[in-house]
Amino acid sequence: MKRINVFDTTLRDGEQTPGVSLTLNEKLRIANKLDEIGVNVIEAGSAITSNGEREAIKAIVKEDYNAEIGSFVRILKDDIDAALDCDVDSVHLVAPTSDLHIKEKLKKTREYVFNQSMNMIDYCIDHGLLVEFSAEDGSRSDIEFLRDIFTEAVDVGSSRICVCDTVGILTPERAYHFYSNLSNFGVPLSVHCHNDFGLAVANTIAGIRAGATQFHSTVNGIGERAGNASLEEIIVSLKALYKDYSTDIQIDQLYNTSKLVSRLSGVYLQPNKAIVGENAFAHESGIHADGVIKNTSTYEPITPEILGRKRKFVIGKHIGTKGLKQRLNELNITYDENQFEEIFNKIKYLGDLGKLVSDVDIQTIADEVLEIEEEKKIALKELSIVSGNKVIPTASVKLEIDNNDILIADVGVGPVDAAIGAVKKGISDFADIELVEYHVDAITGGTDAFIDVVVKLKLDEQIISARGTQPDIINASVEAYLNGANRLLEHKENG
Ligand code: MN
Repeated sequence: MKRINVFDTTLRDGEQTPGVSLTLNEKLRIANKLDEIGVNVIEAGSAITSNGEREAIKAIVKEDYNAEIGSFVRILKDDIDAALDCDVDSVHLVAPTSDLHIKEKLKKTREYVFNQSMNMIDYCIDHGLLVEFSAEDGSRSDIEFLRDIFTEAVDVGSSRICVCDTVGILTPERAYHFYSNLSNFGVPLSVHCHNDFGLAVANTIAGIRAGATQFHSTVNGIGERAGNASLEEIIVSLKALYKDYSTDIQIDQLYNTSKLVSRLSGVYLQPNKAIVGENAFAHESGIHADGVIKNTSTYEPITPEILGRKRKFVIGKHIGTKGLKQRLNELNITYDENQFEEIFNKIKYLGDLGKLVSDVDIQTIADEVLEIEEEKKIALKELSIVSGNKVIPTASVKLEIDNNDILIADVGVGPVDAAIGAVKKGISDFADIELVEYHVDAITGGTDAFIDVVVKLKLDEQIISARGTQPDIINASVEAYLNGANRLLEHKENG
């Protein structure tokens, strides 16, 4: 097994994602998690950027993690002084090496970059910093110049070297060839790849195959433009597809790490994202669900449990009889063959309307078919709304809760808000149910369309989603809320 070091740059390159800016506390929480899951080097930021950035880096340094804490610096004394001020262990010292960057961006010469790099490495080492010397736009640089500058950088005292594919133009074949030419300087070689063509992970792995012993990555692949190579994809690929590499990363923590970063950064994942996307272990089609139930490896290359995840069967129009039976069994619903056929057809019908069928829907449909009259804790007896132009939207409701009638009214910014407010007030003596999400869809076009309201409700730590479908948006909203509230209360009572 060859050991591979993980250098995570979620807090530096990742934070350069357009629109992302993390607070000190958020950075600290991410750093905490990165250290906990076994990242070897955390690039905590770029110290020169701002006062706030330095405060965050200092706070991370203070935590005294196992991970090495570094700052990004350019080949400028001020950048290095700012990093020193934060008391980091190391610097990722980045020098542009392509003629394009040297001439167009810096307006300097190769000689300047070469000499300035050596002076700055010297300066860092004099001040006790460990140096990872990095070639920016390395993949578009003259290979002879690269070899010269790295030879000298290692001579002067760089502990590691790194070559960046800054605009993501390598291919796996070229990456392999390119990194092979740069893996013999006697110090660890790092790969830093960007995802402009969707090849960052493939190129990173090609670099590792070519002899690199460290890679740079970000959680969820966040980063400038199309982002960086994604930590979780590299780690899981190395483990599941290559097998002759080891890292210190705890694979079963990758999913919740991904969740944390997506929540704090506000960069939500595409559902079909490899490894951590919501659909990565979801099965809808009948044939697939049937196969997975018999043997998970039929349609799953790895099991979700490895990542601390669960597989999901999505009920929709592709559901097969086996998948639905499995779901009904999981919900403890018993049925005979005729009843099953009726439930199956009703769910297919909803699926054909383009709806995803939730557990609450299945439960409701099954109750209907099996003629189970659930004793509802809360029932709506009356609802009236006053709304219009220049009136305050007001709702009054009569609820029956445990055989007692409760009459209550509320106002809101609109009629739906007023109605939900009144219902919430009415049941507040029994439970403080919080509306976490509200989503409305017209199933078909036209003003006579059925309105489908989906709500997410929270009671204590339990969150469930519920749905109401009616021709009227206010009734649909109240129905959804009450469906959910009843289910939550039932769940609470039954433990
Ligand atoms: Mn980068």
